Amino acid sequence: MSYIVNFEAMKKMVAIIGGGPAAMLLAARLDSNLFDVIIYEKNKALGRKFLVAGKGGFNLSHSEKLSDFILRYTPSEFLKEAITNFSNDDLRIWFKTLKIPTFVGSSKRIYPEEGIKPIEVLNSILNEIKQKGFQLKTEQNWMGWNDNNELLFENGFTTNSDITIFSLGGNSWKKTGSSGEWTNYFSEKSINIIPFEASNCAFKIDWKNDFLIKNEGKPLKNISINSKNNSKKGEVIITKFGLEGGAIYALSPQIREQLNQNKKAKIAIDLKPSFSIKDIVSKLHSGKITQQLAKTIKLEKSKIDLLKYYLTKEEFIDINKLAKIIKNFPLEITSLSPINEAISSVGGISLNEINSNFELKKIPNNYAIGEMLDYDAPTGGYLLQSCFSMGAFLANQLNKKHG
Ligand SMILES: Cc1cc2nc3c(=O)[nH]c(=O)nc-3n(C[C@H](O)[C@H](O)[C@H](O)COP(=O)(O)OP(=O)(O)OC[C@H]3O[C@@H](n4cnc5c(N)ncnc54)[C@H](O)[C@@H]3O)c2cc1C
Repeated sequence: MSYIVNFEAMKKMVAIIGGGPAAMLLAARLDSNLFDVIIYEKNKALGRKFLVAGKGGFNLSHSEKLSDFILRYTPSEFLKEAITNFSNDDLRIWFKTLKIPTFVGSSKRIYPEEGIKPIEVLNSILNEIKQKGFQLKTEQNWMGWNDNNELLFENGFTTNSDITIFSLGGNSWKKTGSSGEWTNYFSEKSINIIPFEASNCAFKIDWKNDFLIKNEGKPLKNISINSKNNSKKGEVIITKFGLEGGAIYALSPQIREQLNQNKKAKIAIDLKPSFSIKDIVSKLHSGKITQQLAKTIKLEKSKIDLLKYYLTKEEFIDINKLAKIIKNFPLEITSLSPINEAISSVGGISLNEINSNFELKKIPNNYAIGEMLDYDAPTGGYLLQSCFSMGAFLANQLNKKHG
């Protein structure tokens, strides 16, 4: 007697809701022998925020060694397994198989090779998904569950699946589709939602007007910023609103914590990280301080202006005081930028609601990955890598579980 096994019938139906980088990596790495996959995306096309990221730096990841890489996340533990399972090196190897070679820039960030446009990167991932026979359904705005517990869409369409993965994004740059409207649907299922807040955003500083007129748009390069005993080297831009740029973005968790506690946050800028206070004092002498700051200490004009406009004349000519302030220039932050303008958001589904495989504890066979989870990451490739790693890790887990 022989049996005809209908493999198609044995395949599990997988619905992925939201079509950003986390969803795309997941779909691209799910086993098409085991799963029938449909991605439902509310926009006309997938990956709009990915393309916005492409217009900026387009850091796909960072080349930092894994033990340090993992520590960039707040909290870091929950991503350790996912990132170890699909690391920055794995990402580069995978992109190579898609004919998207990458390179490590001088900043140690990972970019697609020069000349490769963001849309080409996106299309190569989408082609990989389509080649598996998986479907992409666009203009499908998911609106929660109906009374029969089926997935419900704005156009009235309802569907069932064996496995559902949510990858609905955070709550910044709403025009890309990541509008955070999904929180209500999860609250109705008693899933704890942490309110969204801006991250990797501009920080408000009430600049002295005279200083701002001369320095708006200018960088403060080669500085180190300290907040709550965490420091970050890099550069920032002086804007009408306050400060923005990599060095301050990376301190978002510490600054947000202070703002939540005191409505104000203190930061201190080291304007000359390569010199100690002693070095500075030894290089300065009384008279023509401005010239000495420029020529001997090699401070740029914006840094000298900061000292000139914010110090009293007595402080400026007191070499010991001046040296201390160059190493520890205090500024007060009064708020975050509006969340919609932020590069990323924190808040969303509480990490207590998911198990180590990103499965929602209260709704078995339903998973949540990507920026919709309540974690923080700095810019520089860490955001995308976390989404890619969560997608790849979950695919790996599901392939194993159902294989
Ligand atoms: C200006 C800018 C520059 C950036 N640059 C970088 C960078 O260089 N490097 C880096 O690592 N990161 C960068 N990022 C961050 C990175 O783009 C995000 O962290 C990443 O896109 C998040 O991926 P995700 O899959 O979690 O969600 P998203 O990319 O936000 O995708 C979520 C998707 O879900 C869809 N969706 C939402 N609700 C519904 C619904 N109800 N029904 C159906 N679909 C829905 C949305 O339309 C969207 O397509 C940048 C972000 C911005 C805004």
